[in-house]
Amino acid sequence: MLPAGSLPRLAAARGYLLLCRGCLGRVGEGAEAGLCARCWEGLLPLPEGRCACCALLHAETDCPEAVAWEHGDALWDYHGGRPPLGALLLPGIKQGETGWRAALLRRLAQAPLPDWASEVDLVTSAPSAWPRRLLRGFDLGAEAGRAVADRVGRPFESLLTKAWFSGRQAARTESARRRLPRKAITLRPGLGLEGTVLLVDDVWTTGTTLLRCAQALKEGGAAEVRVLTLFRAL
Ligand SMILES: [Zn+2]
Ligand SMILES: [Zn+2]
Repeated sequence: MLPAGSLPRLAAARGYLLLCRGCLGRVGEGAEAGLCARCWEGLLPLPEGRCACCALLHAETDCPEAVAWEHGDALWDYHGGRPPLGALLLPGIKQGETGWRAALLRRLAQAPLPDWASEVDLVTSAPSAWPRRLLRGFDLGAEAGRAVADRVGRPFESLLTKAWFSGRQAARTESARRRLPRKAITLRPGLGLEGTVLLVDDVWTTGTTLLRCAQALKEGGAAEVRVLTLFRAL
């Protein structure tokens, strides 16, 4: 039998000894899923003055990026924080860090969304190829899409499919990513779209996947596509 009061002391000592999995400092107050409060503050918004289409800073008045939408934004800078939190979280979540996934989705439920995100008819997500979805047992883009749909009070529908042979965008070189074939992403058969569709994904890097998704949605009848991702890699 342990003396009274020793259990809280043990718990405190354990907290003192645990190291943050991000910065390797002590976890302390406000830690969540093994990351200290300071690391979680790395969920930083993108810089002010960014383009309303590509969410990057550029000097040109007309957006030089290949986009098929009028509104595009991300909630957080992928390389924000020290260590860069998006670059730590997303690969970890894809390898099965369920605590990080739950903590990130909790923050998505609180994060400020752009005004235009609620002026849509339908929310959907960029698809992942099914063998990977099956292996992981979840699809972060779809989970984010459902969470955003709840926030804006619009229905979520899985509208797009990705050919299983199209490969992993993340594993490609930048030039290979930009060549993602047009037919790699298609609208599910039998769907007729209209109105404005909000397309959600976990991370926006070159934007080729989002471009192929937006093209498929527009070819399927969507009058307008808007894009919102959790992270934008600059
Ligand atoms: Zn930390
Ligand atoms: Zn732009």
